Amino acid sequence: MNRSFATWTAACALCAACGGSVSNSLTDTDKFDYNVEQFADLQILRYHVPGFESLSLQQKELVYYLTEAALQGRDILFDQNGKYNLRIRKLLEAVYTGYQGDRTAEEFKALETYLKRVWFANGIYHHYGCEKFVPGFTAEFLRKALEEVDTKALPLAEGQQLAQLCDELFPVIFDPKVMPKRVNQADGEDLVLTSACNYYEGVTQAEAEAFYGAMKDPNDATPISYGLNSRLVKENGEVKEKVWKVGGLYGEALSKIVYWLEKAKGVAETAEQKAVIEKLIAFYQTGDLKTFDEYAILWVKDLNSRIDFVNGFTESYGDPLGMKASWESIVNFKDLEATRRTELISSNAQWFEDHSPVDKQFKKAEVKGVTAKVITAAILAGDLYPATAIGINLPNANWIRSAHGSKSVTIGNITDAYNKAAHGNGFAEEFVNSPEELRLLDTYGDLTGNLHTDLHECLGHGSGKLLPGVDPDALKAYGSTIEEARADLFGLYYVADPKLVELGLTPNDEAYKAEYYSYLMNGLMTQLVRIEPGNQVEEAHMRNRQLIARWVYEQGKADQVVELVQREGKTYVVVNDYAKLRNLFGSLLAEIQRIKSTGDFEAARSLVEHYAVKVDPTLHAEVLARYKKLNLAPYKGFVNPRYEAVTDAHGMITDVKVTYDEGYAEQMLRYSRDYSNLPLVNE
Ligand code: ZN
Repeated sequence: MNRSFATWTAACALCAACGGSVSNSLTDTDKFDYNVEQFADLQILRYHVPGFESLSLQQKELVYYLTEAALQGRDILFDQNGKYNLRIRKLLEAVYTGYQGDRTAEEFKALETYLKRVWFANGIYHHYGCEKFVPGFTAEFLRKALEEVDTKALPLAEGQQLAQLCDELFPVIFDPKVMPKRVNQADGEDLVLTSACNYYEGVTQAEAEAFYGAMKDPNDATPISYGLNSRLVKENGEVKEKVWKVGGLYGEALSKIVYWLEKAKGVAETAEQKAVIEKLIAFYQTGDLKTFDEYAILWVKDLNSRIDFVNGFTESYGDPLGMKASWESIVNFKDLEATRRTELISSNAQWFEDHSPVDKQFKKAEVKGVTAKVITAAILAGDLYPATAIGINLPNANWIRSAHGSKSVTIGNITDAYNKAAHGNGFAEEFVNSPEELRLLDTYGDLTGNLHTDLHECLGHGSGKLLPGVDPDALKAYGSTIEEARADLFGLYYVADPKLVELGLTPNDEAYKAEYYSYLMNGLMTQLVRIEPGNQVEEAHMRNRQLIARWVYEQGKADQVVELVQREGKTYVVVNDYAKLRNLFGSLLAEIQRIKSTGDFEAARSLVEHYAVKVDPTLHAEVLARYKKLNLAPYKGFVNPRYEAVTDAHGMITDVKVTYDEGYAEQMLRYSRDYSNLPLVNE
């Protein structure tokens, strides 16, 4: 609903879901090591927090308290994702840290991988696909290993023997038929009974729907988010909610969160921010969803604080009925440099509109640019850790969004980490034509990629106008592809403009070539790695990119502006004439704007169907085969930086130090040691 995710190949444009712009302010971190490790289908990265050192002491203190509040909630998500997760995690960690046998043996290695996947998914189900992990080791191996470790490290209930523990947990781990899926969406089944998530206990889907159906008033214009913060259970024949609040379910973790929020309140930047924190504390203490809405409204209106955060029950993807929210937290501060860049672009919006190659009658007489807000993440937690979104748009309640607005941000340093980690992963080396294009991409690729996204977001979507009387939905199913193409072309046309050099946004008149090359390589070839063999291009952003790339390729054929060349059975994109290529982008922009402004459905259909949809099966197969050989992990996640408060003799904080040297397992074990706040067995 309200998250945008990074596309999983580096060469794909960043506008995965039109999320905003990104930072390129990392010049001080050229030697920063973004890659941590890779296992199963996962790659673990590290992100940098540029600008943290230049925050004031009070701001650093605030960030520090909020990061502690973020980490204290870790166990909540594990428990929400499955009722046995916390015990399984502890059991596996006991073996991982205490195993005396051969740690290089295959079965131990398989257990290590399994544990790393459990950490990543916050439970025993895949974070994306929701299916239960299949262990690469046997039950006998695990039982034997458990017999050798210190029983004090095991998640034994009062008076429980190891054998009983194994009897209880092993079917959950090893039997593929027991609780196989975290969230089941298969139509026609009882989605509550067949989903392993821990939001319901002993109730059927019909009972849950009846319970909440009876609560809802269809005439309520400001409805609370029913069921958001509770587990629905049946006890003694009665269906009731066990609310997540201080003194209620998850109370042990929530009271620790409140403890740190109280400290944060004491160093809040503004009165508005203090009110936000106070209201959140009140919500955690009461579990009252009216208070939660009041909190969300205060949060939306707090626009002047540099530091911002989310801490709470937020997204409901993990509930098959879409009501109960998983716990998550992110602490962040505004990226001033990236935001200055988007402000510079926005403040020149009229110049860009006036000079675009679009017919005058389709231009806006008065145009206002949008300033995309770019933030720097300081910590990721709960359902945003280790896998995270690159853009966030909250709150989720529709009536609050329409009455009070929402905050939409892009997480610049996370996007940057994805970009940086992609350098040297072999992708560009495999697909880029020659060392000259590689040099362009290495030198300018991140910068011009970000800039293209800025132009797309801040100017592209807002440019141009419909002629009077034209239905905004006239292009129907082709509308979103045409709209994305319009915004992309606006960005492509202007990323090469001398005006950008003049504004100091690009360093020279060759930088734009990096964006032109990677855009065409992606649109003509490499984005096909995301499409299954035999399928066509469906998604609007992907259609738009292929439309643009194929169109300029075809239209420039006579002049050989862009070519697809073959060498040793491999296809490469070659750009022979960048200046003519820019003119072609300008011509297509003018035509796409005409289509949009006049609502020319037939022309939209013809363009999209001719250029954007069909896939050349031979080229597709070739690209897939080349990509497979690179062994890149399709899913990525992050380790957090580590924050440490420096105190004086009186215990006053004098500084907060941030370090980046923690390993993945090391961090997970530290979190389990320091932030295990919940009882291992649910009441
Ligand atoms: Zn867009």
